[in-house]
Amino acid sequence: MNGYEIKIDGTSVTYLPPGAEPADSANIYGRERLRLIDDMDPARTRQVIEHWHRPMPSIVAHLFWTDDTDLEQLDLKVAAGQVTDRDFFGAIPVERMDIKCRRCGTHIDLLKWQLTNPLLKSDFIERDKRQNYLKECPHCGNDIHAKAVYVFSWTPPEDGGTVRGSV
Ligand SMILES: [Zn+2]
Repeated sequence: MNGYEIKIDGTSVTYLPPGAEPADSANIYGRERLRLIDDMDPARTRQVIEHWHRPMPSIVAHLFWTDDTDLEQLDLKVAAGQVTDRDFFGAIPVERMDIKCRRCGTHIDLLKWQLTNPLLKSDFIERDKRQNYLKECPHCGNDIHAKAVYVFSWTPPEDGGTVRGSV
């Protein structure tokens, strides 16, 4: 199964339900990054392939829903050709990043909005306001400004022990 061609916010993408494999793997930039969210909850994430004009390669985008959208229902709607932009109301493209708290030095392994990705950016201000971001360092509570939506783990500098957890 190679996914479904749909439009999100006016952009044509290939939607990959869990278990789907892209058809033309050789032409996808950063294919290894498919593993980015392997250990994440499939209830909150899906992958889509963004197709750009040649010679730009297609790229894999990882979408993360911060609201309670039922993604199994979404898979069914996509398969039935009934998907609308409303289904992506709570979604943003994400990238994995290690950031360092400016106060305590804790390293935080997290997902944040991939701001370089043009997908779902036409209503950026409204979409930004809707997101339930992680706003504080999980160790010291200092403000972080990363548009973070999910934390894999964090490592305080003083003991080196890694704490696994999420927001
Ligand atoms: Zn901190």
